[in-house]
Amino acid sequence: ASCLYIVATPIGNLQDMSARAIEVLSQVDIICCEDTRHSKRLLEHFSIKGQLQSLHDHNEKDKSAQIVAWLESGQSIALISDAGTPLISDPGCFLVTCVKEAGFEVYPIPGACAIIAALSVSGLPTDRFYFEGFVPAKSSNRVARFESLKDFEHTWVYYESPHRIQDSLKDLQKVLGPQHTICFARELTKTFETIKKDSIENILKLMDEDRNQTKGEFVIMVQGATCAKSEDDNESEMLLKLLIDENIPL
Ligand code: SAM
Repeated sequence: ASCLYIVATPIGNLQDMSARAIEVLSQVDIICCEDTRHSKRLLEHFSIKGQLQSLHDHNEKDKSAQIVAWLESGQSIALISDAGTPLISDPGCFLVTCVKEAGFEVYPIPGACAIIAALSVSGLPTDRFYFEGFVPAKSSNRVARFESLKDFEHTWVYYESPHRIQDSLKDLQKVLGPQHTICFARELTKTFETIKKDSIENILKLMDEDRNQTKGEFVIMVQGATCAKSEDDNESEMLLKLLIDENIPL
């Protein structure tokens, strides 16, 4: 029966393309992607010859109706995005909803996803986390989002573009303070991959000292309020112990 596959593609390193992704993309009748020129290169690399159709934020509504019609005519479809997992800060949500409503199955073909890759090496607690997607481009709106997340207990994560990375971290510093711990993951799986867990202040310093650190693609992970508080408590406890051990009158 015809169905829709949601297929993850690499976020940099082409070796992260899964065997199943290659198999499914080779077998479907139509591959929907954000940018046909970009995806053509990826597919050529794996010798996948499929008919490419564009589906992006601006044509998703019209295209979804068309895709349902293709499914009804017995064709099978795959959706990929420019990188990583479709629907994660990428188009496809409207399409998946339409396809399910029309009674067709939607199957995931999992693979790379920048937030998950970043969290897995962050060293921040990951048993619970919140994903904010892209934060607003305008500083005042961004600060408002950060303010609303300021007291969130668990690790929270956002995507940022290279044009705004420093301004964004400066806003974060204003809201959380220079000492707050973050982890920044840049260019994951690529040649200039950088993963650094440090205070916001030190990450900003690193970017000032090395302009290359402001280039590429980023995931920012922010330590949650509970974790930050328990670190403060630990510090106070250690200090108290030190004072007692040294017999310093409290
Ligand atoms: N669907 C993608 C995924 O599964 O991660 C995300 C698409 S979103 C339009 C693009 C953003 O994801 C970038 O601006 C960056 O924040 C993040 N990103 C994608 N690839 C990355 C990489 N290799 N290293 C770090 N961040 C990456």
